[in-house]
Amino acid sequence: NTEDIKILLLENVNETGRNILKGQGYQVEFLKSSLPEPELIEKIRDVHVIGIRSKTKLTAKVLAEAKNLLVIGCFCIGTNQVDLEYAAKHGIAVFNSPFANSRSVAELVIAEIISLARQLGDRSLEMHRGTWNKVSAKCWEIRGKTLGIVGYGHIGSQLSVLAEAMGMNVIYYDILTLMAIGTAQQVPTLEHLLEQADFVTLHVPETPETKNLISTKQFEHMKTGSYLINASRGTVVDIPALIKAMRSGKVAGAALDVYPNEPAANGDYFTNDLNTWAEDLRGLNNIILTPHIGGSTEEAQRAIGVEVAEALVRYINQGITVGSVNLPEVTLRSPGIEDEDRARVIYIHRNVPGVLRKVNEILAEHNVDKQISDSKGDIAYLMADISNVKTEDIKEIRDNLDALSSRIITRVLY
Ligand code: NAD
Repeated sequence: NTEDIKILLLENVNETGRNILKGQGYQVEFLKSSLPEPELIEKIRDVHVIGIRSKTKLTAKVLAEAKNLLVIGCFCIGTNQVDLEYAAKHGIAVFNSPFANSRSVAELVIAEIISLARQLGDRSLEMHRGTWNKVSAKCWEIRGKTLGIVGYGHIGSQLSVLAEAMGMNVIYYDILTLMAIGTAQQVPTLEHLLEQADFVTLHVPETPETKNLISTKQFEHMKTGSYLINASRGTVVDIPALIKAMRSGKVAGAALDVYPNEPAANGDYFTNDLNTWAEDLRGLNNIILTPHIGGSTEEAQRAIGVEVAEALVRYINQGITVGSVNLPEVTLRSPGIEDEDRARVIYIHRNVPGVLRKVNEILAEHNVDKQISDSKGDIAYLMADISNVKTEDIKEIRDNLDALSSRIITRVLY
């Protein structure tokens, strides 16, 4: 029953998300802040769902107390704050919102392209210090210039459209062959892109292959007087190499939103204590330094609220794991389980031989309309839509599945 589902929302989760969950009739408790660990443990014992942002640490110790917990909603991008493996082993699904802020990042990059081309950061800083310094040398319009996008995913492809609308030529490099949007053109290698682009912008994920993707050798391939923008991940640019390239004039400007080491809280942290080169960066001209704000807009927060809350509702009501970061992604399109004689069986289990046969023996008396099973590492997720079920059968099905040695969690939705 939806009204039996207890949800704890911490860290001021956006009201778009709160409203969706309340609208389902769940019991929603909402707190503006995170909780100290002892209080968190006290509260988590009771709930089926917890919604957090980045400050709440759901460690194995905390999750071990969460005996009723079905699902965790991270109302943010990252999921490092959750012990994903422990959660998966205990059949607790975790959802986040990786793409709701793509547009915000793309818009920030547009702002930075113009700002770098016109040295806006420096002019503004000078005026703040009281200096009038009217300059046109090495200030440019962006129309007709070439933007090179590295990583043509959610953000890169949005940016492509915006940049073309302002009259830029767009080229992109990606490890996948991807259909161009507008009149953008894919180039075969990163070097091709670096050699042609006036502005290079990075939109790749953090992977072993993208660590120091832009380093000394890549700067050598870039045009003299070109610009570099990184709003992807801090590991993607070799920052000491960037400092050299800017000091030599090879790179005429840069914008960085992300860094290899980022502090967890606001304050005076952008010093050599955290990153040895921080003060060198601060001393360069025409470099825009922002504290990882690419996705930080009201719109993105609202979109995150909707995306995560909807994923939670789908998981609670229908067991659908599409978008989960730690369980196999499973869904079925079937006639509604609202029908009298239908039920959806969900069996999360250890991925060991012989499970499907045992489950199907248990379901054998019913009509299995559709069934799907998938695994991720040690964990497997089985979903079966059955008909010809009476209410009194439900308990028996559940008890029989619960008795299997491979069981992690059994749910029967009807
Ligand atoms: P995405 O997964 O939609 O796209 C990434 C693209 O990069 C994919 O097309 C992929 O094929 C490509 N790619 C992967 N490895 C590559 C490689 N070695 N060389 C070239 N291309 C490669 O991701 P997205 O949502 O567009 O996000 C891009 C980056 O932006 C991510 O690192 C993400 O963490 C970051 N991000 C930053 C902020 C911020 O606040 N600054 C906000 C959101 C996302």
